[in-house]
Order: sequence, then C-alpha cells, then structure tokens
Amino acid sequence: MASLGNPTNTIAVLQKYGFHFQKKYGQNFLIDANILENIIAAAEVGREDCVLEIGPGIGTMTQYLCENARKVIAVEIDKKLIPVLEDTLSNYNNCTVINADILEMDITALAKQVNQGNPLKVVANLPYYITTPIIMKLFESHAPVESITIMVQKEVAGRMQAQPSTKDYGALSLAVQYYANPQVKFLVPAGCFMPRPNVDSAVIKLTKYINPPVAVSNEQHLFDIIHAAFNQRRKTLVNSLYNAAGLSIEKAAICYALEKLGLSISVRGEALTLEQFAMLAELI
Ligand code: SAM
Repeated sequence: MASLGNPTNTIAVLQKYGFHFQKKYGQNFLIDANILENIIAAAEVGREDCVLEIGPGIGTMTQYLCENARKVIAVEIDKKLIPVLEDTLSNYNNCTVINADILEMDITALAKQVNQGNPLKVVANLPYYITTPIIMKLFESHAPVESITIMVQKEVAGRMQAQPSTKDYGALSLAVQYYANPQVKFLVPAGCFMPRPNVDSAVIKLTKYINPPVAVSNEQHLFDIIHAAFNQRRKTLVNSLYNAAGLSIEKAAICYALEKLGLSISVRGEALTLEQFAMLAELI
C-alpha cells in the first residue's frame, strides 16, 4: 500500500472504502508528509521504542511510526476504519491495531502485555473533543509512559505550557506541569488536514517526570485546590477556596496559610506557581 501522507493517496483510500468522516470522532486526517516526518522527529521515535498511537484513522501516521519504531500499538474507536487499517498497514509486521475507546482501556495492563511493563511512547494526532480527558487519563493512571507527543488545538498547547499571571494559565497548565515538562514543537496550519478543521493546531511534547517537581502528601487535595482556585477565576483565592463545594476550609485558615507563604490575602489563583499551590495544599 502506497504512503498516505498526501491528498491523492488519502482520497484514493477513502473512495476505495466509501469512507465518510465522522464528526463525533474528531476525524481530520493528516495529508502533509513534512508534518508527519517532523512529528516522528519531535517524538524521537527509534528502533528500540514501543509506541502507542491513539486514533490512527486510515493509518497515515501509523505507517511512519512503523517505519521508525520497534513496535506500534494503534487504538482506534471507529470500527469502520479497522478493515482500512488492515489494508494500509499490510506491509508492516510490527503493528497491532486494537478497536477500542482509549478512555476505556487499562494502559498499565496494555504496557505489561505489549512491552513487559516498560514505558511506552505515546504519539497521536488527537481527537480534539477529548484531548484533556485523554492526557489526564495517561497521567493520573500512572501508566508507564515516557513521553506524549501530540497534535492538539493551538490554544490548548498554549494553555499546557502557560506560566502564572498570563491569560492562558489555569488548571490544565498546572496539571500538565505537575506530571511533565511541556514543549511546543511547531504549529500546524488547518490546510494540512482532510477535512480542513476550523482551528490551527500545534504539536506539543510532554516529557514525563520520574518524580513530580513538587512533593505533596495528597495529590487529590492539591488538584481540588487548583480546580477551586480557577473555577471562579476573577475572585480572590480566599473567596474561591472558601466558596468551593467539597473543600470546606475556614476563611481564617486560608488567610493564615497565604500569610505564611508571604502572599497577599487579595491574591488570585492565577498568580500562584505550582510550587506555591503545593505549599498551600500542605498548609490547609
Ligand atoms: N492519526 C490520524 C491522522 O493523523 O491522520 C487520524 C487523526 S484524527 C484527528 C483522530 C482519530 O482518533 C480518528 O481516527 C478517530 O476515529 C479516533 N478516535 C476518536 N475518539 C477516539 C477514542 N476515544 N479512542 C480511540 N480513537 C479515537
């Protein structure tokens, strides 16, 4: 089967299988060979790697991954794409296609089964409607994953690597930066996909930390505080935490903790670094 990273061969495959794009699955297929090569380079995929690809589509990026990796596990939700993938990947014997919803899969068990529990590299052009749940699942499950190189909406990539006191900074920035070092690699214009999406995209690499950069005794408590802080973004941190359902912390305790950290009691959550949130979580 010919290489798919161009419009002509992609259209030929779509026509051969009478395939219709499903909006509900966020199906926008890459048709630019340059971008595909740059993703493989950004992910630093090599012969020793076992790669998990989320959403292979018709197998465009999967072909590039198979050329470069030792093993590729491609998880696709749309069962109509499975016969297409059998065809487009027929030249490769290092690829396994699984018809499943990635959000329902046990990634730790998968890593055990396909890579003896050793870390996987995740590479994906993600369905944008579930970008955040997929990333959070990969992190929060503590599955053996070394890095996540993903195409996401440009604005989402910006939020993941945003720093305090900027408009993009929020709960997603802090969650990602707790687990990984995010690096936007390059931007991808809408014209590189078929069909063309309404937004521009970016490839971001999240290199997972072996240990998070801050130590907390209770991760869940840290994230409850972060979510409460950004739930009412324009309010002071004291009011956001005091009003948060489920936290039940006295105002005096919050003020005391902020003073101990040398922060004003009128500070907003968006001004705090991850380290300050971690210290706050230990105090309240
Ligand atoms: N990798 C292909 C490419 O770059 O051309 C396709 C990328 S397309 C943006 C996203 C793919 O993810 C689609 O094939 C879609 O069917 C699949 N998908 C959507 N939701 C999924 C889920 N929950 N689990 C696994 N795959 C999913």
